[in-house]
Amino acid sequence: QPPAIICVGMAGSGKTTFMQRLNAHLHTASEPPYILNLDPAVRTLPFSVNIDIRDSINYKEVMSTYNLGPNGGIMTCLNLFATKVDQVVGILETRANAGDISRILVDTPGQIECFVWSASGAILLDSIASSFPTVVAYIVDTPRTASPSTFMANMVYACSILYKTKLPMIIVFNKTDVHDADFAKEWMTDFEAFQAALQEAENSKDDDGTGSGGYMGSLLNSMSLMLDEFYKTLSVVGVSAMTGQGIDDFLAAVDEKVMEYNSDYLPELVRMQ
Ligand code: GDP
Ligand code: MG
Repeated sequence: QPPAIICVGMAGSGKTTFMQRLNAHLHTASEPPYILNLDPAVRTLPFSVNIDIRDSINYKEVMSTYNLGPNGGIMTCLNLFATKVDQVVGILETRANAGDISRILVDTPGQIECFVWSASGAILLDSIASSFPTVVAYIVDTPRTASPSTFMANMVYACSILYKTKLPMIIVFNKTDVHDADFAKEWMTDFEAFQAALQEAENSKDDDGTGSGGYMGSLLNSMSLMLDEFYKTLSVVGVSAMTGQGIDDFLAAVDEKVMEYNSDYLPELVRMQ
């Protein structure tokens, strides 16, 4: 079965650009992917989509019919689409059995919470994940995550998604053309390096001379101990969706995570059924 790659991340992290790059890369390698768009609110996509939530559900219409705001609109569209999930998985399976697709790529709504924390998001994700080896790609806006506190917040969020979905996860540090991801890799493997960065950031903020950084400092400190455990289960890659740098590393990480899906996730799935 071809692996399914679910792209999630904060709005503006570069999910769509990343999918565009991956799509182009795979077409060049004569390994065309099959693309599923689950973002009802996106206006235009820079690549052609095989299954599109927008084909069957009109976001604007849903908002006005049910008198909803943007997030309610997205959630309702996902609810409506989730009723068709068997059909969608059926189409994916037919194409997979025909053997002409190498991977399934899934773009998700810009409002990450709408997908990850909604019942219909979970239904869509679980249905795909019970038919195909599925990997979550958590896209991070690296230049905007360069301070220890935003980095920590982003990793806590990724951690919560890992525990919610229970699927193998790759953290994709995107936009390395603007900001290298080495600092992130270092912080994720060397706790003392992270603490030092934290200390430095706090010292420049408070001038009480203790350098303790107060409440925020100690909170971040204890959270980073917890995250240490989380980091061990992850794959981490730096990419630039803009230039294509690191895409091969990402595909190698997917292969690695597919093995993890088969050895860890699949037996659990079988046990639960
Ligand atoms: P999404 O909301 O997660 O789908 O993010 P988009 O793919 O729409 O990208 C948000 C913004 O980041 C756009 O202006 C992109 O051009 C920009 N962007 C995405 N990837 C990269 C990258 O690798 N490098 C740079 N410099 N900009 C990027
Ligand atoms: Mg997008």
